[in-house]
Amino acid sequence: MTFKDIKEARRAVNFYALANRRGLQVIKTDSTRASYKCATDCPFRCYISQDGNSDSYQMKTWKDVYTCHHCFKNPRVDQNTLAHLFKRKVSYNPQYSLKEMKDDLETGFELNVSMSKLKRGKNLALKKLEGSFVDDYKKLEAYGQELRQSNPGTDVVINISKDVLEEGKRKFLRMYICFNALKMDWKDGLRLFIGLDGTFLMGRYKGQLLVAIGQDNMNHFYPLAWVVVDKMLELEDDMQKGLLDDVRNWSAWSTYEEDFKDQLKKLDEISYGTVAAKYLLHYPPQA
Ligand SMILES: [Zn+2]
Repeated sequence: MTFKDIKEARRAVNFYALANRRGLQVIKTDSTRASYKCATDCPFRCYISQDGNSDSYQMKTWKDVYTCHHCFKNPRVDQNTLAHLFKRKVSYNPQYSLKEMKDDLETGFELNVSMSKLKRGKNLALKKLEGSFVDDYKKLEAYGQELRQSNPGTDVVINISKDVLEEGKRKFLRMYICFNALKMDWKDGLRLFIGLDGTFLMGRYKGQLLVAIGQDNMNHFYPLAWVVVDKMLELEDDMQKGLLDDVRNWSAWSTYEEDFKDQLKKLDEISYGTVAAKYLLHYPPQA
């Protein structure tokens, strides 16, 4: 087993100890090597050091033999291990509480970790996420520019908040992407009907991903363009909202012709639904 650096090797041993509930102790560790033994007098041994022929690190000794029982407190589960373990959960739900973390560790690994250590682990996970999110936003303009250069004709629009810009700061507002190839293909061969789909984005910086979908004559779906917005788009009134919900539900579940026609009438009542209704009539429902 090889690792890219000693940090990755140490993290792997910590995860092994956590998953197997083994209270391993460090015998020696520095920038080039790490060795471990069991907290009791088990035959277990692990030794990792740099590979002579490359820059990677190798597991030189691995004696996976125990005579002791599993442990309930584990010195290998430090704040870094906890931060890595819970990074994904914290990114989806920053409100993920210390109590939930404690319960998850107890039920999943039969492990008891102090609240102060859990707090340090969670703070570290949030700090790492903050860094990675901010870095990603910094790359956004470069990503847009790369798309425009490598795909001529592609539309990439990135909006920055004007209010925040006046204060001399930059804040992401929304982004629109439509690849030229998808645009041309829709004009050339797909049905003249555009469907809409969307989902909420989870994580620290929430928003919505909305996608315009096209369909070919074999009923295959294609994304045509997509946009990331920072909050839900507001429809003009509740009636339009209700109608759109109805149509969305109906489009998936209508099974007989009268229902189909009724729903088309409803769609026609929305100002921007008229064109859509016309095209839907052109393509009758299929089983
Ligand atoms: Zn042992």
